[in-house]
Amino acid sequence: MKKKLFIDQEHLQNIVNQYPTPFHLYDEHGIRENARKVKQAFSWNKGFKEYFAVKATPNPVLMKILREEGCGVDCSSLTELMLSDKVGFSGHEIMFSSNATPPEDFQLARKLGAIINLDDITHVDFLERVAGIPETICCRYNPGGEFKISTSIMDKPGDAKYGMTRPQIAEAYKMLMAKGAKYFGIHAFLASNTVTNDYYPTLAALLFQTAVELKQETGADIRFINLSGGIGIPYRPEQEPNDILAIGEGVRKAYEEILVPAGMGDVAIFTELGRFMLGPYGCLVTTAIHEKHIYKEYIGLDACAANLMRPAMYGAYHHITVMGKEDAPCDHKYDITGSLCENNDKFAIDRMLPKIEIGDLVVLHDTGAHGFSMGYNYNGKLRSAEILLREDGSAEMIRRAERPEDYFATLDVTEFF
Ligand SMILES: *Cc1c(COP(=O)(O)O)cnc(C)c1O
Repeated sequence: MKKKLFIDQEHLQNIVNQYPTPFHLYDEHGIRENARKVKQAFSWNKGFKEYFAVKATPNPVLMKILREEGCGVDCSSLTELMLSDKVGFSGHEIMFSSNATPPEDFQLARKLGAIINLDDITHVDFLERVAGIPETICCRYNPGGEFKISTSIMDKPGDAKYGMTRPQIAEAYKMLMAKGAKYFGIHAFLASNTVTNDYYPTLAALLFQTAVELKQETGADIRFINLSGGIGIPYRPEQEPNDILAIGEGVRKAYEEILVPAGMGDVAIFTELGRFMLGPYGCLVTTAIHEKHIYKEYIGLDACAANLMRPAMYGAYHHITVMGKEDAPCDHKYDITGSLCENNDKFAIDRMLPKIEIGDLVVLHDTGAHGFSMGYNYNGKLRSAEILLREDGSAEMIRRAERPEDYFATLDVTEFF
């Protein structure tokens, strides 16, 4: 399938005249439409809630849009909690996914009334000591071994640092009950960026079965099952997009087959999607500023891996559109690079594209999640602005670009600043 951007050349050029490249651009219309579809897909479940994974795109304006669409937030750090609090999320609108979590983070999560998702059995005592045991609590499950959908291996939970073993989670429920917890949830995140409609239904069946057994073994009152994140997006043109309605229907079937007969037909389904909520509705807008002809052909952009780390870190594919050349033949082979002193700072390698001229707008698709947020300051590079394309077509800056004084701010302890 041909990948199409959510904005055309003329409109984008107008925005670039106002805000210089590079910047991440987000599409309010796409975000809202998709959030509504997710809600619709799980509308069969009375307690359903999507807790947007803040780490994917921690911008308060985008979080507010998702809140208006009925989403909560999933946080895993002090600052993510603070940000969520600022936007107005509170109580059970916040999921707090812990792992090697410091005491202050647990304390703020408790203060905000967030649902805490405990990663380990040793954290039961830790939480009791630093913040107290809440009435409602969730435990993260790691089934170990390999996670398969029919015969294909999706991931290896046995090698992952997260979650409790099966005997541990039963023990943790009992310990928590003894310490006053009343209502329970179970959570697992077993594969990332899955581009198959079978991931959630397979995971759901596993968690539903485990929940039924845990209820029998421990007597715990299980109120929700958290399917977490992991639904992917088609970064590549040849990939078939997930059908969220089919995914919701697959989860419903498992629910009817496993939970309802066990008398657990009022259990709420939660999700913590990040990538699926925002990934396709953001792009990185850059300008071609250099060309280089050595053993290969290079185009140098005004953005670098500090603005979008996924290609350098995972060799991830991000589709590229050269604005105004959408229908031109892709008859030039380029490496598209940034300016870091680091040879993996390449957004694309041997990519067939139309001929690129200096000054062309070069847009990287699907940077709406795990894009800006994975940015860093290596080589003294500064983080870019974030711009929101509103539903009425206007553009609004929702984060300014870093300035050198931001980069130097923490050096105020020295004599030089
Ligand atoms: C990262 C993360 C998510 C979101 O993952 P996506 O792949 O963006 O859907 C959800 N829950 C937890 C606990 C996470 O760590």
